[in-house]
Amino acid sequence: MHEILIISGKGGTGKTSITAAFAHIAGNHVICDLDVDAPDLHLLLKPEHSRVHEFISGNEAAINPDTCENCLDCVDRCRFDAIDENGRAPKVNPLKCEGCRVCVTFCPAGAIDYPEKNCGQWYLSESRFGPMVHAQLRPGEENSGKLVTLLRQKAKEKATELGLDRVLADGPPGIGCPVISALGGNDLAVIVTEPTPSGSHDLERVIGLCRHFRTPAGVIINKFDLNLDQTRRIELWCSENDLPVFARLPHDEAFTRAMVIGQVITEYQSDGLTKTIQQAWKNIINHLE
Ligand code: SF4
Ligand code: SF4
Repeated sequence: MHEILIISGKGGTGKTSITAAFAHIAGNHVICDLDVDAPDLHLLLKPEHSRVHEFISGNEAAINPDTCENCLDCVDRCRFDAIDENGRAPKVNPLKCEGCRVCVTFCPAGAIDYPEKNCGQWYLSESRFGPMVHAQLRPGEENSGKLVTLLRQKAKEKATELGLDRVLADGPPGIGCPVISALGGNDLAVIVTEPTPSGSHDLERVIGLCRHFRTPAGVIINKFDLNLDQTRRIELWCSENDLPVFARLPHDEAFTRAMVIGQVITEYQSDGLTKTIQQAWKNIINHLE
């Protein structure tokens, strides 16, 4: 089984629209949205029949006002400024609590509980392009790397269970913790870039990350015709760095028109950009094999 990850180094390059188009034309896969902080692949794929699972990770403090003696020792000890004075008993701010357990340990009245933390939900769903694994982290939660690892594991388990050939994942933006969790061990990272100086800069950073994790990588240049000089510079850089360019996709408002009526580009039209995306997918599979 192959794991293919589509990433971009930053948002707004068209990564998710391209992933959705691949999800439509590829088949034989489990689709996975690893952007757990701001998932949007489900908006295009409209998965249904979701089985919902809670994502429990770490612990947080919770003060019991009935047993608290309001000595405020916990307020003084909390290095994360997560406990506020609050009349008869102080209150923990869950967005600031780092779960260090100091307040729990030192509370003279034993008034602080330390329950497991519900950080969000993950879903096993059916989309019109195949099974889909996705999630939503609660706002402000910082366990996105762990959730990404969990989703990858569940997607692979589902693919194995159904005898499918691959997991196709829409990766998180940026190069932080979630991307690091998404990248290691993949068979191929497809990096969607655009012909701007910041696009090139982000491409170089994300390729550095791929190299660090020894993940093979290739590139798609989206909206290549918006700046042909910059596109040539990216292609030259890719050639100098032994990186295949799987496709150059033109700027095309059909992407947006398809989205407005709830379709992916390859459902919306059968020629033009769709042919280029189909060829890109063939190039990706040929490269993998
Ligand atoms: S340390 Fe314990 S008893 Fe003192 S204010 Fe905090 S919760 Fe209440
Ligand atoms: S567990 Fe740590 S971070 Fe959370 S409220 Fe207690 S002392 Fe502060």
